[in-house]
Amino acid sequence: MTVTEPTSGTTVFDALESAVRTYCRRFPAVFTRASGHRMWDEQGREYTDFLSGAGALNYGHNPPEAKAALVDYVLADGPAHGLDLHTTAKARFLRRFHEVVLAPRGLDHRVQFTGPTGTNAVEAAFKTARRVTGRTDIVAFTGGFHGLSLGALAASATAFKRGAAGVPLGHVTRMPYEGYFGPDTDTVDHLVRLLDDPGSGIDRPAALVVETVQGEGGLAAASPDWLRRLAAAARERDILLIVDDIQAGCGRTGTFFSFEEAGIVPDLICLSKSISGYGLPMALTLVRPELDLLGPGEHSGTFRGNNLAFVTAAACLENWDDPAFTDRVARTAALLEELLGELARTFGHLGCAVRGRGLIRGLAFTDDGLADRVSRAAFDRGLLVETSGARGQVLKIMPPFVIDEDGLRGGITVLADAIGSAATEGEGQ
Ligand SMILES: *Cc1c(COP(=O)(O)O)cnc(C)c1O
Repeated sequence: MTVTEPTSGTTVFDALESAVRTYCRRFPAVFTRASGHRMWDEQGREYTDFLSGAGALNYGHNPPEAKAALVDYVLADGPAHGLDLHTTAKARFLRRFHEVVLAPRGLDHRVQFTGPTGTNAVEAAFKTARRVTGRTDIVAFTGGFHGLSLGALAASATAFKRGAAGVPLGHVTRMPYEGYFGPDTDTVDHLVRLLDDPGSGIDRPAALVVETVQGEGGLAAASPDWLRRLAAAARERDILLIVDDIQAGCGRTGTFFSFEEAGIVPDLICLSKSISGYGLPMALTLVRPELDLLGPGEHSGTFRGNNLAFVTAAACLENWDDPAFTDRVARTAALLEELLGELARTFGHLGCAVRGRGLIRGLAFTDDGLADRVSRAAFDRGLLVETSGARGQVLKIMPPFVIDEDGLRGGITVLADAIGSAATEGEGQ
């Protein structure tokens, strides 16, 4: 069919784009501009963004310092693409990442630049864990999400996503996340019992892979104590610990890494989403030096050297050197917690419960279909807020760090209105 110019509205997407598109179905606007916590569509309508690129825009849209660094680099003809060649942009990122993130936390991990997606960072971590241990299986948890390429997909839990694989997904053993069987069953004890019992039928795994907050799986958050005991259980059995910090990392929980509060040191750490700080594709796997055993080119990829992303990543890292920034993130997280607590009280009759930690939060309701209706009602009111969980049963609230108090309060007011309206709509059905 022909697509008439000028393109406006969603006709071109409906006509030409694959059926696999998804976020745009929920938020069917055509966006033209974005800044901080706000986006505008081609009708000039303004939206408050609690979606934040599914966690890729922690610093908001087009953060000014990163934008300036990027524009300077582009205007100076800095190499944009570089495979894994040495560039000054990569050198600067590595230096600052070491000085601002790794060294102050006592971490000596090597930085492996993987293909620029989260799922590729997870593939790299799994390959390394399998190489180092000579074992094949990975333990992943209920509700976990680790990406959609086959190796990572095997560790992702949602039946709907797994169903697209078209081949059996193997070499992953599923274990219950904290709280899976309710408050009375300790799932680390459960794991340890199965690992230690030669009659359990569980082969010793190469690694455990875990998210400290399940971004796609419904915003369950592991307690520091559970994480510490999990890490100890792995270490005592010579099993590697992989923290998939692709969504909960880069400051979402209030600290740069989401596991800092627990005081654990993972063997492998996956970062992507907000590591570039600008929404530019970039991913990395941090590897304890003695585990860095993949040889040159064994895990390769054409776009591992996204130098534009290195430039913005280095610019955004400067924030973590500034105590005023971390204070601000903590204050925003505290305000969000307070406002969500008020929402949970207001909508107590809907079983509204707050999930997650820091600035990666969820709202669950008794009626599993309500989150989806709230998300749609919120969009009609100019608020972008998505759902999470295998049945889309949890509303996911993830404003950028840079949102100011008015923006946050305004967004939550719209959300309250959307919940009220979606709940009434549900009663009418
Ligand atoms: C988004 C995500 C991934 C996959 O990242 P992609 O860039 O979409 O491949 C993996 N793990 C977690 C925890 C994520 O949130």
